[in-house]
Amino acid sequence: MYHRFSDPTSLKAQCTYLKHHYELLSMLELSECLRSGRPFPPNAVVITIDDGYRDFLKIAFPIFSTYSIRVTVFLVTDFLDRKLWLWPDVVKYAFGHTPYTAAEVDIPNGRRLSLPLDSSTLRLQAARVTIEEAKTLTNQDRLFLLECLMERLQVKLPREIPEHCQPLRWDEVRSLAQSGVEFGAHTKTHSILSRLSDNQELSNEIVGSKKRIEEQLNAPVLHFCYPNGRAADISDSAVATVRAADFRTAVTTEHGLNLKSSNRFLLRRIGVEPNLPDLYFRQCVAGFRV
Ligand SMILES: [Zn+2]
Repeated sequence: MYHRFSDPTSLKAQCTYLKHHYELLSMLELSECLRSGRPFPPNAVVITIDDGYRDFLKIAFPIFSTYSIRVTVFLVTDFLDRKLWLWPDVVKYAFGHTPYTAAEVDIPNGRRLSLPLDSSTLRLQAARVTIEEAKTLTNQDRLFLLECLMERLQVKLPREIPEHCQPLRWDEVRSLAQSGVEFGAHTKTHSILSRLSDNQELSNEIVGSKKRIEEQLNAPVLHFCYPNGRAADISDSAVATVRAADFRTAVTTEHGLNLKSSNRFLLRRIGVEPNLPDLYFRQCVAGFRV
């Protein structure tokens, strides 16, 4: 599981290693194995990319394509429709652009964070702490926190999403699909599904994102990715909604390998980044690192 790309050289090295030592499957091939009960090929790996940032097109796709690696990209559809920024980027932007050198932030769960902001490292750290607190909140409280944060830090978001936080455009998604990239749904707004208040909201996020991509690609969307993706983020009703929506698989961020007997709606993944040290990357892919 990748998210962002900045360094083509290290991604190339990772692809060379994977091609040499692993059997690279697409999500579709994996889902066929899971459905038919056919064994996975030895050392099978599937590459997935979450969220739908535009750096995939510019940096990663040309490399995956050179290596003939079929990848699956999970899209947050309101992000692609440019109705919203991915919410952790809003928090990072707010702390990065506030005129203050320290701030107290009230979290709707009653906690108050005292955050020093007099260096870029401290600002990033403040954003990270606030993002982690926000993940524990109900969806409504998280949206309220974001609103209060902007006011508290005296920051206004620019109309255009900044270059490094931009999503793919739909015409780019269509042309990538024609070049063999598979696209999956990753909700409309990247809300954590266990923090939603009712089934209507669940269906809107899950089915709504599937339909939006299908409308754009004119092809069925078969794979789903749970936002944040830890066990606590995935309610039973979220899994039931994914099953009922005719997805073939759904992936989590629970760390680990998958077996033929794995639940195809709760597949495990291993998080990696292009800039991991070589040995560490190799250990991650082999399942030796948590
Ligand atoms: Zn995501």
